[in-house]
Amino acid sequence: MPTQNLGAMQDWTMRITHVIDHAAREAGGREIVTRWADGSETRTDWAGIHRDAKKMAQALEALGIKPGERVASLAMNHSRHLVSWYGVAGMGGVLHTVNPRLFEDQLEYIVTHAEDRVLFYDAAFQPIVDKMKDRWTTIEHYICYDSGDHARSFEDWIGEHDGEYEWFAGDERDPCMICYTSGTTGNPKGVQYEHRSTVMHALAGLQPAAFNFSSASVMLPVVPMFHAASWGLPYAGAMAGIKFVFSAVNDPAVLHELMLREGVTDSAGVPTVWLAHFQYCDKEGLDLPPLKAATIGGSAAPRFMIERLMKNGTRVQHAWGMTETSPIGTVGGPTWDWEQLSFEEQVDKTAMQGRPVFGVELRTVDLDDMASELPRDGKTSGALQIRGPWIIRRYFKAEQDAVDADGWFDTGDVGILHPDGTLQLTDRTKDVIKSGGEWISSVELENAAVGHEGVAEAACVGMPHPKWDERPVLFVVKNEGADVSEDDIIEHLRPQIAKWWLPDAVEFVDDIPHTATGKISKKDLRDRFSDYKLEG
Ligand code: ADP
Repeated sequence: MPTQNLGAMQDWTMRITHVIDHAAREAGGREIVTRWADGSETRTDWAGIHRDAKKMAQALEALGIKPGERVASLAMNHSRHLVSWYGVAGMGGVLHTVNPRLFEDQLEYIVTHAEDRVLFYDAAFQPIVDKMKDRWTTIEHYICYDSGDHARSFEDWIGEHDGEYEWFAGDERDPCMICYTSGTTGNPKGVQYEHRSTVMHALAGLQPAAFNFSSASVMLPVVPMFHAASWGLPYAGAMAGIKFVFSAVNDPAVLHELMLREGVTDSAGVPTVWLAHFQYCDKEGLDLPPLKAATIGGSAAPRFMIERLMKNGTRVQHAWGMTETSPIGTVGGPTWDWEQLSFEEQVDKTAMQGRPVFGVELRTVDLDDMASELPRDGKTSGALQIRGPWIIRRYFKAEQDAVDADGWFDTGDVGILHPDGTLQLTDRTKDVIKSGGEWISSVELENAAVGHEGVAEAACVGMPHPKWDERPVLFVVKNEGADVSEDDIIEHLRPQIAKWWLPDAVEFVDDIPHTATGKISKKDLRDRFSDYKLEG
């Protein structure tokens, strides 16, 4: 008889129901606060989220939803959305968190592509529901998170059940959530997370080298629950039993007041969120909130932002990732040599994207052949590739894997790997500017430009050039009332970058187009300036 060389440990299916069971059991009384869009506030706790998630699981079964099927949410951050994260997965369903800022065609595409059968939505998004209802042919039930006259309300709907429910016992490789990429080219693509990948990702997120959570943490996530699984915070937070403070509106005045009143220690958001907070504090003459840690990701955190937060005593966790990577890839925080670095050096290091957490492997390959692996020398930039247990293998309903035979997924990002593991992102493969056979990083130019006090936002694109192939042109939105000229910007850039990187032109514009996730849309910018000509 063949001997089975098994160890002597227990089977424990890595399903996320363990996460919410743990939070309810070990941190049941830890608060979950929600500030709703109408200004009202509610308080529940992990035990309450657990109970309501079980009721929701029962209610979904009563609607005839089967394990593996998708239901959607169109909602901001609040406790009922959190209940849905656990309730849907708890009955074996797959929650599709829809980004309300997508264009109508994208909204139609993703909901029908995912074959969502139920839609949970905030009353604030009623106009979207009204507009899309006829096009969302797969949706059979609409349930509103808020109570109202016209809609079936979430609380009433789950209130019909008693919460006496055994979680659905499926496989750890079953799906539990699906997020679509915003699709800057072509249709959005679905990334289906598994229970196992989600649990492992959340464990990684807890680490001191990542979110650094403890039971004393009080987190106000500004990153929306519909964007890249809110960076896994709702799962990692449950594992650590932290207090959550949610706001269904992103008004900096509301966030600021909540942060002070609720003793918030941690927050997370894209750079524009932090920028809005700075502007609010400056306008009102207020200090920044006394946060212990700020996670910034989704696009590069500018140096001045990092510096200001660090001077405020806030640890900056500059993170890189994407929907396809669950999304944690790398996170920045103090490294072993932190105390030996000067403040300036610490800021410089934090301006890079941090180091891979355990479970994630990174490499860079040559941009021209997309195959030869490059040295981790802190100098050579190349196409960034990633693999690991919470990295995509295949897009939802795709015929083929999205990775090569060794599991490497091409991120579409361009970066430099440093000898200590730090990732320095320099561009997107599509945006990097090729001038005379050499690469120029559009992102570095933008970051340098926004350091000028008169610049509110900057975007750099490569424009066709008769001699050099492409040359950088910088589009700049001025700060209100600022008096800056092209020369001012060029002089500001000159000491910061190589001479041949200096933009051939600086164009002042009223606005820069953004994607549904709030990032600069270079594609739209290029379309807008498709007739642009540079002289040879
Ligand atoms: P989308 O916003 O298009 O839905 P994602 O949120 O998945 O997609 O975006 C992922 C991309 O965002 C990354 O590939 C990278 O280009 C960019 N990004 C994320 N974090 C950072 C960061 N810290 N610095 C620079 N770029 C970042």
